[in-house]
Parts: sequence; structure tokens; C-alpha cells
Amino acid sequence: VTFEGLGLAEWAAETCKELGMLKPTPVQTHCVPKILAGRDVLGLAQTGSGKTAAFALPILHRLAEDPYGVFALVVTPTRELAFQLAEQFKALGSCLNVRCSVIVGGMDMLTQTRSLISRPHIVITTPGRIKVLLENNPDIPPVFSRTKFLVLDEADRVLDVGFQDELRTIFQCLPKSRQTLLFSATMTTNLQTLLEHSSNKAYFYEA
Ligand code: AMP
Repeated sequence: VTFEGLGLAEWAAETCKELGMLKPTPVQTHCVPKILAGRDVLGLAQTGSGKTAAFALPILHRLAEDPYGVFALVVTPTRELAFQLAEQFKALGSCLNVRCSVIVGGMDMLTQTRSLISRPHIVITTPGRIKVLLENNPDIPPVFSRTKFLVLDEADRVLDVGFQDELRTIFQCLPKSRQTLLFSATMTTNLQTLLEHSSNKAYFYEA
């Protein structure tokens, strides 16, 4: 299998090669075509399996076709993971000039508000900070009114450490027609519940 064989654009396949990604990992082989086909996906995969590129590549492929506003909202449990995800999006999307905003605690809220209102392509956030911004500035929720993808990275951790309120606020601001991509190290009852509410028929991948 090649990256192009998964349905990705030539520029994406070339970028992978330049980054030393010679062939797709199993989570990429299984999930990329389903994401490109518009399915919701739950992928059970460990860190190091290539799961970030498994969702970043098809999101960037679609973004290149229609580079509108905040295209994807990626939620991850920690600041460190948020910055790492942004690095991977920037590397994989280098030839698109993709604009990513990292919205996490401990940084200036006014700068973050301005950054969101400028409608970056990809927003990467921790659940607590995005909730505060969505609730305190009426200009922020409309920023996400046409968002195409919601990703929960390390979804088991995002769902298990009491972020239910935060997720409810996030879900309310996103269009119903979006794709939801969940990546998690383990299957949990919270994930199961979330999946049952998925309106698209979800594809389930387990390594
Ligand atoms: P992740 O599972 O997303 O944390 O990825 C772990 C590491 O694997 C990252 O540093 C990626 O750059 C690298 N990686 C992802 N996909 C591939 C691939 N197909 N071939 C080689 N390395 C990869």
C-alpha cells in the first residue's frame, strides 16, 4: 500500500516521503480511506502507531480542496499534546501554508480570541480553555459554524477526566453534519456512549 493508494493527493504522498514516512502504518491504511469517504471513525491505537497522521492527512487533503475557515477542531487532554499535534499538522500541511492555532490554558486570552476570530484552518485545544472562550465572547461560536471535522485525540482521557461539560459546550457550537474522529488507546463506556450518538455510521478500527 502507498499513501496515494489510500486516496490521498500527490502532494500529501510527497510530503510523507519527505518526512521519512515511506509507507502507511496499519492505523493509516485502515482509517484514511474511511475518513476520506466521509465516515466517522473510532480508532483504537497507541501513541507511536502513526494515529496523528491517520487523521491529519485526510483532513489536510479535504482542506486543500475547500480551504474554508476553521476546518477542523482537534481536542486533546494536555497542552504538550496540543503543541505536538500542531507540529505534525504544520509538517504534513507545509505545502498548503496551513494556519494552526493552539488554544490552551496559561496563555493570553485576548491573543487567543483574536487568533480564533482570524479563522485559522485548524484549531487545536484542550477542553477547558476552548469552553471559556466559547462562553465568554459571542464572536467565537460562529467561528465554528461551518467546521467539518471534530477530532478527539486521546479520547479516553478527554472523556474520562470530567470534561463532560466542556464537551457539551463544544458540541453545541459545531454543525451536526460534521465528521467526528475519535482516537483512543482504550475502549471505554464513555466512548461507547458517544459513538451511539454518532449520526454518521461510524467505522471502528482496532489494531
Ligand atoms: P503518533 O502515533 O501519531 O504519535 O506518531 C508517532 C510518530 O510516528 C510520529 O513522529 C510520526 O512522524 C511517525 N510516523 C507516522 N506515520 C508514519 C509512517 N507511515 N512511517 C514512518 N513514521 C511515521
